[in-house]
Amino acid sequence: MSKFMSGKFSALTPYTPGEQPKDMKYVKLNTNESPFPPSPAAIKRSGEAAAELQLYPDPECRALTEAVADTLGVGYENVLLTNGSDEILNFAFMAYCDETTPAVFPNITYGFYSVFAELNRVPFIEIPLKADFTVDVDAVCSTHGTVFLANPNAPTGIELPQCDIVRILESDPERIVVVDEAYVDFGSESAVPLLGKYPNLLVTQTFSKSRSMAGARLGFGVGSAELMGDLNTVKYSTNPYNINRMTMAAGLGTLKDAEYTAKNCRTIEETRTYTAEKLKSLGFVMTESKANFLFVKHPKLDGEATYLALKEAGILVRHFTKKEISDYNRITVGTRAQMDSLIAALTRILEEL
Ligand code: PMP
Repeated sequence: MSKFMSGKFSALTPYTPGEQPKDMKYVKLNTNESPFPPSPAAIKRSGEAAAELQLYPDPECRALTEAVADTLGVGYENVLLTNGSDEILNFAFMAYCDETTPAVFPNITYGFYSVFAELNRVPFIEIPLKADFTVDVDAVCSTHGTVFLANPNAPTGIELPQCDIVRILESDPERIVVVDEAYVDFGSESAVPLLGKYPNLLVTQTFSKSRSMAGARLGFGVGSAELMGDLNTVKYSTNPYNINRMTMAAGLGTLKDAEYTAKNCRTIEETRTYTAEKLKSLGFVMTESKANFLFVKHPKLDGEATYLALKEAGILVRHFTKKEISDYNRITVGTRAQMDSLIAALTRILEEL
C-alpha cells in the first residue's frame, strides 16, 4: 500500500477472483462461466452497437430494462440493470447497511459479501452454516440487519427452500433481505414471485452464468419501485453510464433468444447429473448442487493437492482455503467432453495414490 492510500482502507482485503491464466490452454472449470458461446443474436447486436460507440449509452437502459421486466413479469420500475450483479450487490451494501444496520450472511457463501461490507465499512455478522452446509434459518431470523443470501448458495450449490426465505422475510419486515440468484436458472426456484407480497425483498440476478455473458458484465436487481429508487440514487452517484452500448445490445439479443438460454441450462443440468454420478462412482462425496457447479471431496484426497494435480493435468477448478471447506473443490459444469477430461484426470489421480 502506498503512503497515499487512505487509512480507511488499511484493513481491506480485496476479493480474489478465480484464476484467468494466460500461460496455457486449460479446461477452465473454475469460475462458473457457461461453456457455451453467447446467443448468435447477442453477438450480432453487440457488433452492430460497436458502430455507435462514440455516443454514451442510454443511462436509463430503457429497452433492456423493459425486456428484463417483461421476461420476469414485473414492471419497468421494478428493475435496475448493473455492471454485473456484483455492482447491484455493492449498491445494496451502500444503500441498506450502516453502523447500526449490519450485513448478515452465512459464514460460507459468496466471498464478495464480506469484501463489500469492508469496502463500505459496515459491520457484518457471519452465521455459521449447519454441519450439512445448509443455512441456519433460525439463527438468521434472530439477527438484526440486512440479510444477503446466495440462493443456490455458493460454493455449496445448495438451494434454500422458498418457505425459509419467507420465514426470513417475515422475521423482520423492517429489514431488507437480498436474495442473490446468480445460479437460479439451473433448476431452482426464484423468489421473484414473492416480490408483490414482500416490499423488503430485493432479488439480484446475472447474465454471467446461464446467459453466457460473463465477459460483458451485466446483472440486475428486482424489487419495489421504492427500492429501485434508492439503488438508482446510488447508481447515479457513482456511474450513471454503468452499462455500455455493446453489453446493452448483447443483453437484448440474449433475451430475445430465450430458447437458446433455456436449452443450454437444460444441457448443463443433464451434464451436472452425469458428472455427479461418475464422480460418486469414483468415491467422491458432494453436496446436492442446484447450480452450474459441483462441490466435491474424496475421502482419500486432499482438497488442495487435488486442485494442484488437476492444474498439472491442464484442468482448472476452484479450491478455497477456508478451513471448513478446504477438503472440497468447486468444479464448474462444462461441456460433456470437458467433464469426461475431468473424470479421466481424477481417475488417474486416484490410481496413482
Ligand atoms: N453472486 C454469486 C453467488 C456469484 O457466485 C457471482 C459470480 N462470481 C456473482 C454474484 C457475481 O456475478 P457477476 O458480477 O458476474 O454477475
